[in-house]
Amino acid sequence: MGNSVTEHRDPDCVFCKIVAGEIPSERVHEDEQVIAFKDLSPKAPVHVLVVPREHRRDVRELAGDPALLAHTAEVASKVASEQADGDFRLIFNTGANAGQTVFHVHAHVLAGGTLAEGEM
Ligand code: ADP
Repeated sequence: MGNSVTEHRDPDCVFCKIVAGEIPSERVHEDEQVIAFKDLSPKAPVHVLVVPREHRRDVRELAGDPALLAHTAEVASKVASEQADGDFRLIFNTGANAGQTVFHVHAHVLAGGTLAEGEM
């Protein structure tokens, strides 16, 4: 009997592997629904990715679960308060033409210092 997490897992997905602990990450938050970890190539003093444990392709799919979408935003806010002054930019690159390269939905939390217009 699979649980909901393994049923929603994509075996080829790098973020599913991070969720499972098969690829290391520097986690700053985790709960039953999401994990948050530092981006490998930070584009701001604080650059954290908030990632639902279940595999969803992008925010269009995540929007089908409004509670999970809201929780993702809440965790982003908590991370920005803990890691910086509480102000943050929240970005979902959605689709290849918008720069999405990992097709497991993730919210980029950019914070710390004064973020430039157009940064990221
Ligand atoms: P982009 O690469 O254009 O930012 P995405 O919005 O899909 O596209 O973001 C994927 C993000 O995942 C990138 O910021 C990248 O640095 C980050 N990333 C990729 N692999 C890892 C990893 N193993 N650990 C942490 N961050 C990662």
